[in-house]
Amino acid sequence: MCLKHKMFSKETTVREANTRLSERLSSFAFAADSGFKKEVTRRVLEYFERTGLSPKGDREMRIKTVTLLAWFAASYGSLVFVDMNSWQRLPLCGSLALAMAGIAFCVQHDGNHGAYSRHPFINRLSGLTLDILGGSSYIWRWKHNVAHHSYTHLHGSDSDIDVPFGRLSAAQPLHYLHRFQQFYLWIVYAFFVAYWHFFEDFKQLAQARIANIRMPRPRGWLLAQLIGGKLCFFAWAFVIPCLSHPWWGVLAFYGATSALLSFILILVFQLAHSVEEAELPPLAFHVRQVPRPWAVHQVEATVDFGRTNRVLSWCVGGLNFQIEHHLFPRICHVHYPRIAKIVEQTCAEFRVRYSVHDSCLDAIKSHCRWLRRMGKPQPTSSIAVG
Ligand SMILES: [Zn+2]
Repeated sequence: MCLKHKMFSKETTVREANTRLSERLSSFAFAADSGFKKEVTRRVLEYFERTGLSPKGDREMRIKTVTLLAWFAASYGSLVFVDMNSWQRLPLCGSLALAMAGIAFCVQHDGNHGAYSRHPFINRLSGLTLDILGGSSYIWRWKHNVAHHSYTHLHGSDSDIDVPFGRLSAAQPLHYLHRFQQFYLWIVYAFFVAYWHFFEDFKQLAQARIANIRMPRPRGWLLAQLIGGKLCFFAWAFVIPCLSHPWWGVLAFYGATSALLSFILILVFQLAHSVEEAELPPLAFHVRQVPRPWAVHQVEATVDFGRTNRVLSWCVGGLNFQIEHHLFPRICHVHYPRIAKIVEQTCAEFRVRYSVHDSCLDAIKSHCRWLRRMGKPQPTSSIAVG
């Protein structure tokens, strides 16, 4: 068996192991595969064999990583150590937030999926950049790789749709306040990163679960990484700046940086899943049965956007190609624009709904319409039974 065959087999094995484990715990089941997953995988595999490219990132990713880390260091160093007034520091908060978003989308995401490199140690190292940014990579792998990627947009298992004061799925209970969510949820979005830094990781660690999926508590080296990462983050974000600046100024600049970072991170997620075109079929959640195969669900619960915008693709780590990412999370994002045509063509042949928003703006408009719809009672035919 050639290396690439092994890579894909390993991908399938890891996903199946995750799925088996979390299915035991959440008992969501998908319909049997119709042959779509096998065929799209065969075609993508054939593309890599034909071109001789590695499915991992290699040199292109190394250059991107160095660029983003240098951008982060320059923004942080200027913000904290260069003498200037508050107004001059404000654009540096923006620059720092953009650099952090770039590292989160491009470096840690691929690393924690095992997509960055063929060497596990390099994947682990790039995954640890999330700990430096203040989020636990251990918890993220459970929350994202297992819960989100296995049960995309399924209420009860995918914690990414559990936004405080928000209703992003028809399966979630409707409250009076939700009818205004298209207005106030943008303010809630701005606190996403601060909530993650100060509360969510600790809550999920204490509960040892992500939504209804049990998460083993980290021990030994994994626990040391989690604690070390949190200490490192609080040191660079608060302790070091407080040595030369008033604490209220440090808090204000943390607030500005984390608010912008929150908007960027959550928007990229919402534009891929919480839009009209990603609507789920009516589901009987009480029997936890999804009436379509897993791979078809991944495609139809996800929407690509702004695919021709190369700057956007570079900045968001190919996450505007989320359909390709959900089918092939262990392929490095630099390849998504090239394999998108193969995936789209295969979807057309298998009559799998493949949705794209031409621009970011179109996707934002669709997200606004989705928020408005989810804030109102649903017609009986589209209600997911809870
Ligand atoms: Zn992912």
